[in-house]
This record gives sequence, structure tokens and C-alpha cells, in this order.
Amino acid sequence: MKTVSRKKIIEALKDQQNIFGDYLFEEKLPKAKVIYEEIPQVVEVIREPVEETVNLFEETENWQNAKSLDELNNLIKNCTKCVLHKNRNNFVFGSGNPDAEVMVIGEGPGAEEDKQGLPFVGRAGQLLTDILKAIKFDRDEVYIANIVKCRPPENRTPLPEEMETCIPYLKKQIALIQPKMILCLGLTAAKGLLRKKESLTALRGKFFDYEGIKVMVTFHPAALLRNPNWKRDCWEDVKKFRKLYDEIIK
Ligand code: URA
Repeated sequence: MKTVSRKKIIEALKDQQNIFGDYLFEEKLPKAKVIYEEIPQVVEVIREPVEETVNLFEETENWQNAKSLDELNNLIKNCTKCVLHKNRNNFVFGSGNPDAEVMVIGEGPGAEEDKQGLPFVGRAGQLLTDILKAIKFDRDEVYIANIVKCRPPENRTPLPEEMETCIPYLKKQIALIQPKMILCLGLTAAKGLLRKKESLTALRGKFFDYEGIKVMVTFHPAALLRNPNWKRDCWEDVKKFRKLYDEIIK
């Protein structure tokens, strides 16, 4: 099979899995091993009192104290915490209105985003701009960011450890911007921000709460480019999103 068509089939199957769940993807898990362990004897442990103000496990990193998006970007743009930094041309921090009422969250930069250092500037980005326009948002009015800030090779889905490493940066962006509403594009964004495990079908079009912010999940524009049949459902979702925005903001 030619690589191009094989790639397309894999992407289509991934979309199906994201949207409809694992029904077609039966996972064969190895049988659990029973491990017999000796029951430890009870020993008395005398603990030294620990000073309450000292946090032994988490050190505060400089970026956590950033007071603005620019300061945060400067403190994290040379990040090397996960493997994705190795192939990046640009760290894609995010772009838009720092005082936005609405944030849009995608998965991670693609080739064009990596080249320009800006989120959603490729084909999927153009469709996102059109979707926003259809519900009367200017692209510059909202803030756009991603779950991971560096491009995964071959545009693969970011790995759980890459997401876990990068999500604190996104959470800090959210804390600085303090939007009233967030639109998550695709399952990776929903899983990352909301810690949800369900399929996109189960999550999309509904409102969730993240730290008091209303969050809606809908289709990723790249999936809509591959499956235009899903555009109608996306349209229903974003209309609902706009309706709640009008109720909250006005
Ligand atoms: N897809 C994403 O999820 N994010 C981008 O920035 C571009 C494409």
C-alpha cells in the first residue's frame, strides 16, 4: 500500500476512534499477574516534625510567578522538559487578545505553526477563523493556544507524558487571561483540560466547568477537513457556545 493512502487510512481511523470511542479497537490487555508479597511486619516509625511551610515535593519554578503572558512566554520558550523540543523550529506559545473573554484550545502545532511560531495558521487554522467568524468572533478578539507548545513529529497525537509536562503552561495562560468561556477543539484538548476519558461523541456540544469557566468541546477543524459531514454538528455546537456567551457577557 502506498504510504500516502496508508497515512490517510490511519488518520481516518484515528478520527473515528476519537469521535466514537474504542468500539472498533478492542484492546487486548495482558492478564493481570498475581504477585504474592510477604506481609511486612509492623514497625513503629518515629517521625520528626516537618516544618509546615516547607514543601518537600514541589519546587516553585520562575514561570509560575509570571505576571503577564509576555513574561510567561519569555520564561518558558526555551523549554526542554519533553522530547518535543528536539525537533521544534519554534515554540508556539499562543496568540490573540490577552484580555479575551473566550479562549480556544487545540492539540498542538502542525508544520506551518512550527514554521511561523503561531497557532492555527495552516489549513485547519483557516477553517477555525471561518468557524469563529460564523459565530461573530474576530480571531484577534479571542486567545488561541494548544495543549502542547511544540510540534509532535509527523503531527502525531501528543503522548500523555508530553501533555502532562506542557499542560501546566496552558493552565498558567488560562489563569493570566481569566476567560469566561473556553472552546476545546478535539478530544486531545478535552482530555487534557477536563481530564475526561469519554469519546468526542459523548463530550461534544455540552458545557463543562474548569475552575469556574464554562468549557465546550467540539470537533477539531482538521477532523472537519477530513470529514466534512461533521461540519453540521460542529455548527450546532458553536451556535450553542455563542448563545451562552451572549447570555453571560451581556
Ligand atoms: N492544530 C492544532 O491543534 N493546533 C494548531 O495550532 C494547529 C493545528
